Amino acid sequence: MPRPPLHHVFHPENADHYEATVRTGLQHLLGHLDRVDGPSRGTTPAEAEARVAAVDLDTPLGDLDGVLAEMSHLWLDDAVWFHEPAYAAHLNCPVVVPALLAELFVASVNSSLDTFDQSVGGTYMERRLIEWTAERIGFGASADVLASAEERPDGIFTSGGTQSNLQALLLARGRMQRVPAERLRIFASADGHFSVQKAARMLGLGDIAVVSVPVDADHRMDPAALERSLAASTSLGLAPMAIVATAGTTDFGAIDPLPAIADLARAYDTWLHVDAAYGGGLLVSPTRRGLLDGIDRADSVTVDYHKTFFQPVSSSALIVRDVSLLAPVTWHADYLNPRDAQTPNQVDKSIQTTRRFDALKLWLTLRTMGPDLIGEYVDTVIELAAEVYARAVELPGLEFVAAPSLSTLVFRYVPPGAQGVAAPVLDEQVLAQLNNGVRGALYASGAAMVAATKVEGRQYLKLTLLNPMATAEDILGVLDLVRDHGARIAAELPRVEVAR
Ligand SMILES: *Cc1c(COP(=O)(O)O)cnc(C)c1O
Repeated sequence: MPRPPLHHVFHPENADHYEATVRTGLQHLLGHLDRVDGPSRGTTPAEAEARVAAVDLDTPLGDLDGVLAEMSHLWLDDAVWFHEPAYAAHLNCPVVVPALLAELFVASVNSSLDTFDQSVGGTYMERRLIEWTAERIGFGASADVLASAEERPDGIFTSGGTQSNLQALLLARGRMQRVPAERLRIFASADGHFSVQKAARMLGLGDIAVVSVPVDADHRMDPAALERSLAASTSLGLAPMAIVATAGTTDFGAIDPLPAIADLARAYDTWLHVDAAYGGGLLVSPTRRGLLDGIDRADSVTVDYHKTFFQPVSSSALIVRDVSLLAPVTWHADYLNPRDAQTPNQVDKSIQTTRRFDALKLWLTLRTMGPDLIGEYVDTVIELAAEVYARAVELPGLEFVAAPSLSTLVFRYVPPGAQGVAAPVLDEQVLAQLNNGVRGALYASGAAMVAATKVEGRQYLKLTLLNPMATAEDILGVLDLVRDHGARIAAELPRVEVAR
């Protein structure tokens, strides 16, 4: 049988084809970048769906230009750009160039980090980055008198904070193997990330397993309330399996009081997981590392490099205070990682098997930029949020829930005449309609993107600032657009007119 055309295979014989393809792709991308003039194009789901549905996947286009043109029509032309200063919606960051260069290598070489014999040096580079992150956390050098001097921190790169949190809770579950699932409880703040609830489901503990601990006025877990919850649960014969403290909540960037929570974890002999998916970047901040004081007393920590280390998705890690804690995810297979393997196998620590060399992105970033510069980017976006808040808090039409803790601002548009009016007069439903309308109008216009959230059942908007190149003027411009659209939409809502 004749061999099929093989020039598509990454192979030295096809180096010219590879180079030409990547160059053409790069030119295409740069051409786009040059034309981007806002975070979105306002495309509706129906428009996007129809375009994608029209493609016949069984009939290839053949020529590269046609393939790229089609891709742009389906996606790139309407893509949401996180480097645009008026993109201020979710926890997405613009990415740093050394990490993008790494992506080319990661994908082309395609090492798999499950075993040494599929990654060689990659295994050790990932391990060094885990050790480096653990050192930044303070693991291994803990002043905690009860911690063992023998501890050897470890961890693993994961696909994201959701997977890191799942693995942390799986490890915590492993420590309580003899306790029936229905008695286990996980304590997380009411503002904690929903991946904790999902993890409880996946672990077969059910929704009832997650106890929601009230937060204080700054949206931080209230340790007194945590203590009451722990005491109440144990008196009912339930077993605290884990406390999840959040270092940087998704909405408010609030950092739970880690030292007080660590004391309670110790007192109740409970696993302490710190979800620093968002706040993890503080580990390299030259000025704000202190905000994470107490994180070294955790049993496990989630860090999302693809949030505050400016890495492309996916890049996250779960770090544990001691290698022995990873035992629940170790399984030996004769065909991959036999018990008597003579080489180090990262699969022994992971819930994934085949796994990308995402660590290379952080590696090239650190070797090119160094940690301090990443930390300065983190400081920059935190200072940006503070400046925007200071300059916008008095603006008519805007109502902020709180001063920023990290780099988010939760606020809403309230028609100036109605500000300060008692809640029953200005219907919450109308305000929700108004603010959702503002958000939709911003997206549709393509000029700016903000997120939405609820606080105590009330609809709010949210700015998440992760772009160190954005200026206060850029973000104040977004808030001006919010006020313009808000005033326009309010004028169309009869009940708001009445409230005035
Ligand atoms: C983003 C986030 C997560 C989830 O991380 P992914 O990388 O999106 O899976 C978990 N916890 C917190 C606090 C987050 O902000």
